[in-house]
Amino acid sequence: METPALDIDLPDDLRAMRAAARRFTERELEPWAQEIDRLGEIPPGVFELMQKNGYCGMRLPVEYGGGGLTLFQYCIALEEFSRLHRAFTIAANYSSGMTPMALVRHGTPAHKDRFLRGFATGRLKSGFALTEPDAGSDAAGMRTNAQRRGDRWVLNGRKHYISGGHVADVIMVMAVTDPDKRARGGITAFLVEPGMPGFSVTRVDTTIATDAIKLAELTFADCELPDSAVVGEVGNGFKVAMGSLNDGRMSVSCSCVGAAESLVERSIEHVKTRRTFGKLLAERQAIQWMLADSAVDIAAARALCYDVLRRIERGEKVGSAGSMCKLFCSEMVGRVADRAVQIHGGMGVIRGFPVERFYRDVRHYRVGEGASEIQRIVIARDLLRGVKIDD
Ligand SMILES: Cc1cc2nc3c(=O)[nH]c(=O)nc-3n(C[C@H](O)[C@H](O)[C@H](O)COP(=O)(O)OP(=O)(O)OC[C@H]3O[C@@H](n4cnc5c(N)ncnc54)[C@H](O)[C@@H]3O)c2cc1C
Repeated sequence: METPALDIDLPDDLRAMRAAARRFTERELEPWAQEIDRLGEIPPGVFELMQKNGYCGMRLPVEYGGGGLTLFQYCIALEEFSRLHRAFTIAANYSSGMTPMALVRHGTPAHKDRFLRGFATGRLKSGFALTEPDAGSDAAGMRTNAQRRGDRWVLNGRKHYISGGHVADVIMVMAVTDPDKRARGGITAFLVEPGMPGFSVTRVDTTIATDAIKLAELTFADCELPDSAVVGEVGNGFKVAMGSLNDGRMSVSCSCVGAAESLVERSIEHVKTRRTFGKLLAERQAIQWMLADSAVDIAAARALCYDVLRRIERGEKVGSAGSMCKLFCSEMVGRVADRAVQIHGGMGVIRGFPVERFYRDVRHYRVGEGASEIQRIVIARDLLRGVKIDD
């Protein structure tokens, strides 16, 4: 939004990143937004376009064909994409999300050579499988297990709600390898690829949001894996996954900021032309106050996120600050979307109208990547360090 009240101090590299990502989004991605809604999926053309313009594998090292972006720079790009359509942030995550970044940090040279290059060229998509029917927030309670049989691992179990699990070319699957230790050294990360015997996609769920986001159920029935499928050390799977946790929280948070800003801009456009009882909606105090509340929400969210991203960039430990961002931003965008629908009246609930899509799309943010309640638990534990909490 073009107002000094919402401006924020940013170094030149990030301003340039924002300007380039905004240009790309408005000029190149814009025509694809409707196509994505029409098809209910992200067509290959989007990945080709992103790759051609340097937006595939943004966070991967340059030596593997990636963009070498910092988390802050990546988050700025996601903020811009999410101003248009949530699907573009999903597309970016396939090549720079949890699994690619776990491979950057813990992968063997062979993993990096094979997969990172594939992500950077837009040829490969990644998935990450932690959640199970009986283990969601309480992920350490997972039942999927891998047992040693000769020189192989044999994987059995079921994961669900896996983003893009039905189209992923490689999925990092978390499984119990030592039931006595579980989260404390008994969970291992494995790479599973489609076509491996014993691995199948057994269901694909659509959700309240755009059909471009689909969640898959994955079943493993005596799925045999070689040692080379292990990411990091055996038993260290939770560490491998949790290492990318702050990345995920920050990228979701900034996506919320971008979506919220877009909703307010669309609302401002609307109230400047819509008349009721002989006056513009923009002249009504009830409407002005909704816009003002949303602007304050966005400014607070952005300031919080950028401060935490700066600290992460400086290598500081941020404790539960990533959870604070995820909690505040995901709830903030819900409030902003609700006000935007109200401001648009009937138009705000008509299928196919962007505000209505945003309203549905942003509801995910309070559940995925650790629900709001779980973020509150993380923050409270940080505050109450030293107090024994049993649950
Ligand atoms: C859009 C989307 C994409 C997703 N993508 C992936 C993916 O790619 N990979 C993957 O592994 N998972 C994925 N998930 C799954 C997601 O991580 C889980 O849905 C989430 O962790 C919550 O688990 P659950 O659905 O089992 O809910 P539950 O754990 O059953 O929780 C239900 C409710 O109870 C609350 N709750 C739980 N425990 C407590 C407690 N101790 N105190 C208070 N409240 C509590 C929760 O916050 C929630 O509101 C995705 C989910 C969504 C919505």
